[in-house]
Amino acid sequence: MTHIIEVDKLKKHYPIGKGAIVKSVDDISIQIKKGETFGLVGESGSGKSTLGKTIVGLEGPTSGTIHYNGRDMTKLDKREKKRVNREIQVIFQDPHASLNPRMRVGDIIAEGIDAHRLARGKARQERVYELLEKVGLKPEHAKRYPHEFSGGQRQRIGIARALAVEPKFIVADEPISALDVSIQAQVINLLEDLKQEEELTYLFIAHDLGMVKHISDRIGVMYLGRMMELADSDELFRNPLHPYTKALLSAIPVANPTAAKREKIVIEGDPPSPVNPPSGCRFRTRCPHASEICAQQVPEWKEVEENHWTACHLY
Ligand code: SF4
Ligand code: MG
Repeated sequence: MTHIIEVDKLKKHYPIGKGAIVKSVDDISIQIKKGETFGLVGESGSGKSTLGKTIVGLEGPTSGTIHYNGRDMTKLDKREKKRVNREIQVIFQDPHASLNPRMRVGDIIAEGIDAHRLARGKARQERVYELLEKVGLKPEHAKRYPHEFSGGQRQRIGIARALAVEPKFIVADEPISALDVSIQAQVINLLEDLKQEEELTYLFIAHDLGMVKHISDRIGVMYLGRMMELADSDELFRNPLHPYTKALLSAIPVANPTAAKREKIVIEGDPPSPVNPPSGCRFRTRCPHASEICAQQVPEWKEVEENHWTACHLY
C-alpha cells in the first residue's frame, strides 16, 4: 500500500507573546496509506485539529515536512497547488458555522465546482442534484437555505460540498461531535459508503476512541502535541500499551457486559498547558506509572510490536 500522506518530524508552534510558545504539534511523524481511514484521537488542546490543518495546508509547518503523493506540500508550483487544493478537502465539526447562511444550498455545494471550473450551466446543476442524492438529500433541497435543515442534514451538505470537486483525501475534523447521538451513526455510515464509492482516504479526527473505533483502520492517539500511540484499530483496542490510551479506553462504556472487564483508570485533572508542557514525557503529571526517568527523558517513539508504535519508558 502506498502512502498518500507522509508527515515527517512536523512541528507547528505558535508564539503567543513575551517569548511564550504554544507547541501545538511537536515532532510528529506519521504516514497515511492510500485508501485507509486513519483515526486521530485526543482531548481538546492535544493538537489534533492543528495537525489536520497543517496536513491539508491551511497552516504552514514551523518545521518538518508533509508529502502528498510523494510531493513536498511546501514546494508545489501554482498549478500543482491548485490541483492539490482540489484533491484534499475538509469536513468541519460544526456544519452550522461552516455553511454561509445567505447562500442557497445548491450554490454552497457548487462553490468548488465554480472555483475549479469543473462544470457550468445545466451540467453544474445536474452535478449538484447528483451530489445531493449521493449524501441522502433531494434535488429540490438545492433551492433552500442552510437554516431550513437539521444538524445532520447540514453535515450532509458539508459532505456534498467536499465531494463536489472529486477529492482523493478528506480530513474530517470531528464531523459528528456536534450531532445528536442518534444521527452520528448515520453520518458515519454515509462517510463509509462514500469512501468505497469515491475511493477516498480519510483522516478522521475525534476526541474519543469510541467515535473512531468502527470507521478507522488505524488509530493514532495524541496528547499535548505529541503522538503517544499508533496501531491498527483492533490491535489498539485489544492490546493498548500507553497508559494514556489505557485510560481513554477504560472510559468507554462496554456494550457487551460479558466481554473482558477493563479496569477503570481515572486520569486526574486537566491536561497541562501546551505553553509550558511537562519535561520528559508530557503525560507524566497524570500518569499512574510515572517514575524519575519520565521527568528527565522524552520517551522515544518506537515500534514496540509489529505496526504498533508508542512513546513510553515502560517499553
Ligand atoms: Fe507514564 Fe512514564 Fe510512560 Fe510517560 S513515559 S506514559 S510518565 S510511564
Ligand atoms: Mg478541534
